[in-house]
Amino acid sequence: MSAEIIKDIENKKTELESLLKNAKDLKEVSSLKIEYLKKYVKSLYSELKNASVEEKKSLGKIINDFKNFAEEKIKEAEAKYKQEKSAAKYDVTIFKDSIRLGSMHPLTKLYKKIEKVFVGMGFSVVQGPEIETDKYNFEKLNLPPHHPARDMQDTFYISAPNVLLRSHTSSVQIRTMEKLKPPVQIISPGTVYRVDDIDPQHTPMFYQIEGLVVAEKISFANLKAVLIKFLKEVFGDEVGVRFRPSYYPYTEPSAAVDMSCTKCGGKGCKTCRNTGWITVLGSGMVHPNVLEGVGYDSKKYTGFAFGLGLNRLALAYYNLDEIRKLYENDISLWRQI
Ligand SMILES: [Zn+2]
Repeated sequence: MSAEIIKDIENKKTELESLLKNAKDLKEVSSLKIEYLKKYVKSLYSELKNASVEEKKSLGKIINDFKNFAEEKIKEAEAKYKQEKSAAKYDVTIFKDSIRLGSMHPLTKLYKKIEKVFVGMGFSVVQGPEIETDKYNFEKLNLPPHHPARDMQDTFYISAPNVLLRSHTSSVQIRTMEKLKPPVQIISPGTVYRVDDIDPQHTPMFYQIEGLVVAEKISFANLKAVLIKFLKEVFGDEVGVRFRPSYYPYTEPSAAVDMSCTKCGGKGCKTCRNTGWITVLGSGMVHPNVLEGVGYDSKKYTGFAFGLGLNRLALAYYNLDEIRKLYENDISLWRQI
C-alpha cells in the first residue's frame, strides 16, 4: 500500500510543479494551494492512520517532505504574482483613458474663431476700459446729452451723469481714432453692461465685438464684403446673409444684418420666430459727426462700423436656446458641444 502512495505523491509533486508554472494569476495559485496543500495532505494523513508502525515512520517522513515541498513551491508562486500586482499599481499609463482634460469655455472658443477670421482680413485687436465716461460712451458717438437714442441702452451709472459702465465697446473705437491717423482697421472685443433682468435671452453683462474700418474710399460695398465673408467663415458657405435698413446714431446709413436660421435652415422655427432669419449684427457707414469729432476729415475719409453680441451668436453657433446656459457651466452640456 505504501509503495502506491509513494508513487502517487511523486506524481502529485510533478503535477503541482507544472500546474504552478502555468498558473495565470494569484487566484489559480490559491486554488492549487487548497487542492494540494490542504485536501491532498489531509487525505494522506488519513491514509497514515491505517498504516503499520514501521510504515508510519517512513511514510510520515515522505508526507512531511511533500508538504514542505508544496508549501515552498506555492510560496514562490504567490510571491511572483504579488510582486507583479504591486508593480502594476505604479503603472502611470494605466488610467490614461479615464482622465478628461479641461478645455476652453465655448464662448472663448467661438471668440477665438471670430478673432482669427478678422485678423486674417487684416484687423488689429484693440481693448479699452470697462469703466467709461459719458464722453466716450455717448457724446463722441453722436449721442449728445438728452438725445432720445440714449434710451436704447439702459446704462449702469457709477456716478451720474459722467462715469458709467460702458454699454458698448464703441467707446474703444473713439479712443483708437483719437490716437491713430487713418487708415484704421480694428476690432474691439470686451464685456459690456446694460440694465437688464436675467431671462432666457438677456443678461446684464455680455460680450460684444465691434469693428471699425476708416480709410479713403471706403464704401458700403466694403462693409458688405467683410461681413458676408465673416459670417460664411464662421457658419459655413451655405449660410444666407441679408442687410436691411436700421437706425444707429453713430452710423448713416445703418443696416441690421440677418443670417439664415442655423436651427431650421431658413424654414422657420421657434428660435427665428418663424421668419427663417436671425439678426446677428448691427452695422453702417460711420456718421460724419463721429469722424469730425475725433479730428478726421470726413470729406477725405469714410468708414464703416459693426457690432455683434457674442452671446447671441453663440446661441446660433452651438444651437442653444437660452443665453444663461452659457454661464451655468453645466459640464455635461459643454461635453456635447
Ligand atoms: Zn429657425
